[in-house]
Amino acid sequence: MRQLEQLLLRIDGRGYKAYKELQGGRFEFPRMSLLVDHVQGDPYATPSRARAVVAWPAAALPEPALASPARRRATRDFLARAFRSAARGERDLTIEAGGQTVLERSACLLTAAGVELRFRVDLPAAGRRILGSRARDLLIERLPQIVAHAAEAGHLDLPALERHCAAVEDQEALRGMLADAGLVAFVGDGSRLPRASGVDDRPLAGAVEFEAPSALRVTLRAPNAGTIAGLGLRRGITLVVGGGFHGKSTLLRAIENGVYDHIPNDGRECVVTDPAAVKIRAEDGRSINGVDISSFIGDLPYGRSTEDFTTDLASGSTSQAAAIQEALEAEAGVLLLDEDTSASNFMIRDRRMQALVDKAREPITPFLDRVRELRDTAGVSTILVMGGSGDYFDHANTVILMNAYRPLDVTARAREIANQLATGRREEHNGDLHRPRPRRLDPKSLSPETKSGKRRIQARGTDTLVFGRSEVDLRAVEQIVDSAQVRSMGWLLAHLARCPGETVAPLAPVREMLARLGGGEWDWLTGHPDGDLALPRLFEVTAALNRLRGVRLR
Ligand code: ADP
Ligand code: MG
Repeated sequence: MRQLEQLLLRIDGRGYKAYKELQGGRFEFPRMSLLVDHVQGDPYATPSRARAVVAWPAAALPEPALASPARRRATRDFLARAFRSAARGERDLTIEAGGQTVLERSACLLTAAGVELRFRVDLPAAGRRILGSRARDLLIERLPQIVAHAAEAGHLDLPALERHCAAVEDQEALRGMLADAGLVAFVGDGSRLPRASGVDDRPLAGAVEFEAPSALRVTLRAPNAGTIAGLGLRRGITLVVGGGFHGKSTLLRAIENGVYDHIPNDGRECVVTDPAAVKIRAEDGRSINGVDISSFIGDLPYGRSTEDFTTDLASGSTSQAAAIQEALEAEAGVLLLDEDTSASNFMIRDRRMQALVDKAREPITPFLDRVRELRDTAGVSTILVMGGSGDYFDHANTVILMNAYRPLDVTARAREIANQLATGRREEHNGDLHRPRPRRLDPKSLSPETKSGKRRIQARGTDTLVFGRSEVDLRAVEQIVDSAQVRSMGWLLAHLARCPGETVAPLAPVREMLARLGGGEWDWLTGHPDGDLALPRLFEVTAALNRLRGVRLR
């Protein structure tokens, strides 16, 4: 520590490059070690990367905080958040501690040595001149205080830590119970589903609490919270109907996010979803690379085949068909669709339209005519929000009516109506549903390098992955919740690009890499200690790959 102090005072007033002397340094403090992994080249570049390690005896974390993998993940998440709140007011110290979700992330690791916090520090300067004594105050006076508040039991809010651990452990356990209970999702009574705004993922104040209809109420037993009652959504086809503004999309969005764990008081701590649930939506303008969409879109005008469909400019319906096939290729088990983000010609085709435009002139087989086949032959469930057409009544196993944010079970009534008022439409198929064959990737078509040969992997929020010369538009990949996931996705694709061979089947290596990250092994991904990463799902990694323009998948 004294050495660091002397160094900082010595380089005071010099050009910014002199900070490089810190790089690779390890400095011992009374209650922590500071490791400076990378020093920014100039004061306007991305801040420098550093780590603080608090040895186990100094951390003295309570045993329950470390008692299971879920609890350890929750503890790491909690400590990173504690660092962030202790550093509030410090403009120069930042940590990727996440939003409303608790993801496997690299900002805090528990190693053999102790608790390791990974953060960024913007080393102080006036213009390009080093402010050595300000750096000294930051790193030697204030940083140890912040680290103590983030990693020493004596300074932590231990009851809050226990609540964090219990909530995460419960969510993981509840999610794990779904399959045995025949459920694809569970929404606990008392949940608060709506968010503060479209750009604020915190709960909406004063929301109407969720309450399951008795006919669909199930109870699950969580390890910490005990018995929890709520809506159990069964396997099969579930329809969510109701008037506009009654909370249908809000329910579906909560289910989409139920693949992740949420922090206490988020309102969605008792909303859990099958981890293989994938949101499907239309996304006109995206690129599609060699997808067999023929189950949904037959031959196009002028005989263009759709079994190996490639375009730089998809339409609403072709993009939605591709999204389904890509999700099935990655073994999605549940499809989530909302009429708000679907192409209407992909979803429905009614009797009158069948009479006017005959099948020979309509390449589209609407989802309506595939949804049962998906369930019965592929074992894929669907949860569909559809307030605009009753044609799905014939196929639904369960129909839920959202009425002023309260779900009602209207399955029997919908069935009665389906019997009384036949749609009069013909089912339209052109052959059986094609289970997509796993495509192979040409790794040479996937390069993280720019024209000048420099590697470029960046996340712009959750909207864009900058990858080499390409920018992948991820706005329609709605189950990405954190930009740190996007960065990880970029690095995973960079590893995929290095696979040997002319072609490679991408799913197995991506699964393997995700399993390593899921086990808290991070450093191999970027090749250096990096605190700005979080775990994506397989489906989001493949979604990025599938949207990369010019990638060859066959
Ligand atoms: P729909 O899809 O049925 O048209 P939305 O889910 O979009 O309806 O909800 C409409 C509005 O109602 C949104 O602004 C949403 O934030 C709000 N809302 C949804 N659920 C609740 C709730 N439980 N309590 C209070 N407001 C809610
Ligand atoms: Mg809606």
